[in-house]
Amino acid sequence: MKLDPDLKLSILEKVGVYSTRFSITEPQILLSTKEVLDAPKEMTEGRRTSAYKYYGVSYLQHNLVFINVRKIPDEKTLENTIVHELIHMRFPYLAHGKRFNKLVRQGLKGKVFPPYRKRSKTAAI
Ligand SMILES: [Zn+2]
Repeated sequence: MKLDPDLKLSILEKVGVYSTRFSITEPQILLSTKEVLDAPKEMTEGRRTSAYKYYGVSYLQHNLVFINVRKIPDEKTLENTIVHELIHMRFPYLAHGKRFNKLVRQGLKGKVFPPYRKRSKTAAI
């Protein structure tokens, strides 16, 4: 898809809506490979020069998401990619698979997820 100001605005609006539903802090969004390459290296470490290969990349440690608008063919794939990346943010421990895909489908349908709570590594009695 071609990134123009209208599309950029609609992507950022969608990210805002889904971030609220998923109870996550709205991530910083990069919309072109140039923005990925311009971002501080420590933020995009691991998926920097390879980011162009993917529809989207989540940089979980930095609450940063790359949406590869130019590679994305249509509106439906775009929405899918946004929700996919934000599900990574909400469920950081979860790998790709059936459960992950189910959560993406639920997210696309408008499901609200309560905030993620890290389990304490220690327990006291
Ligand atoms: Zn993924």
